Parts: sequence; structure tokens; C-alpha cells
Amino acid sequence: MDKKIYLFANWKMYLNPAETVDLARDYSKLSYPANSVVAVFPPTVSITEVIKIFNNKFAVGPQNTYWAEKGGYTGESSAATFKQLGCTHALVGHAERRHIFHESNHDVRLKIEAMLQLGITPVLCMGETAEERKKLQTEEVLESQIRSAFMDIVWPEGMEAIVAYEPVWAVGTGESCDPNEAERVASLISNWTEKLLKRPPVVLYGGSVRGENIKHYLSMSHLSGVLVGGASTKIETWSELVKNVS
Ligand code: PEP
Repeated sequence: MDKKIYLFANWKMYLNPAETVDLARDYSKLSYPANSVVAVFPPTVSITEVIKIFNNKFAVGPQNTYWAEKGGYTGESSAATFKQLGCTHALVGHAERRHIFHESNHDVRLKIEAMLQLGITPVLCMGETAEERKKLQTEEVLESQIRSAFMDIVWPEGMEAIVAYEPVWAVGTGESCDPNEAERVASLISNWTEKLLKRPPVVLYGGSVRGENIKHYLSMSHLSGVLVGGASTKIETWSELVKNVS
């Protein structure tokens, strides 16, 4: 069988509820390669509507979660709540969470632990900033993000370990990472993860993926798919991207 291709869509905070429903309906009408695995991360307020529209055709999950199950955590939503709504996956440690909302490696770890307890598959996002890259600290930063997320964690049998390499300087900027460099980093991420979890991870690339560059990433041996932000929020650019997968 062909290798699975992961097409993950982060709709961020780009869409109001009516626009979200329209986009979800449009996603459902497209045809996708048989070996593709589609997961969508819509704005939280519209998650239930999107789950209904997809009707198990695609995975759905939140862009952020909180680790405690219930309590006085104003403004947060627990991983447990999303599980009850029918979410199977969740983003964790997205660049915008880490850098706009100051989420730490420790926060990310607590969120992953809560998800694993519930049987939600975490999609761990990680990447270096432009400054870290300039100072040649990419490997050091990524290795510490991976170690903090996965060291001594009990990973449920049968659950995929999904890591999205998203250089911070490439997320939402239009400046994508050179595919050979993404492949080099993906191979490091694979090795580190396999050592810690005793299983090979699924590694995705994210950062200004478009219809015209998706094929370059998918042709890399350590990359199994993409996490797409901006280009996933309009049906024209998403369908262009999907068309270029097969
Ligand atoms: C993202 O939000 O995960 C992302 C990769 O965004 P963009 O595709 O817009 O760079």
C-alpha cells in the first residue's frame, strides 16, 4: 500500500462561525488521494459543527487545550471536553502559542500527558526562531523541545507519535523552509523521538506550505505530510494543494 500522506489544516482564528461551516462543507466535497489522512483544527467555537459536517470523514481537533479536567481556569478548555465532543487529535506547542502566549516546554508536556490519558493524539509542533537559527542553535532548541515533550513518558500502544517541524520564521510569513533542510531536520527529529519513545514518529513539515511547494516536502523520505495554516483557510488554495498531492 502507498505510504500515508498526512494533510493537516490549522484554521487558526481566521474564520467566523458561518465561514467555518462553509469551508468545512467545501472540504467535504473535494476528492482526496486514497492514502491521505486529513485532520482539521478549526476555531474552538465551531468544533461541534465541523465534527457534524465531516461525520468521521476527517479527524477534528482543537488548536490548544488545557491539562486540568475542570476548575477555575477562566478562558481555558480542557482536553477532556474536546474528547467528549469527539476530537481525536489536538495541536500542542504551536509556534503562535509558544511565542505569542508564552507557552513553555513544561506547559506543552503537561498538555501532552493529559491528552495521552484521554486517548487524544497530540500533534507536537516545534521549531526554532529566526534568531536561534542565525546563532546556529536550531538542533539544540529542537532537541530540548523533543526531550521535554517525550522523555520518560508512557506512550499508549497503538497511538501515533506525530511531530510537526514548523520553523517559527516560516509560519505565516510566506517564507518556506528549503525542503532539503526540512528533510535534514526531520531526520534528526525522527532519531531523537525514536530513541525516547521506541517507535518511529510521523514527521510533518509546516510553514508557508502552498500548492506550488507541497510536492517538494512530500518527496522527502522523513516527511509524511504537512501542517498547513493560511493556505488551508480558503478552499481555492486548499484544493490547489490537494490537487498537487497526487
Ligand atoms: C501553521 O499555522 O501551523 C502554519 C504552518 O501556518 P502557515 O501555513 O500559514 O505558515
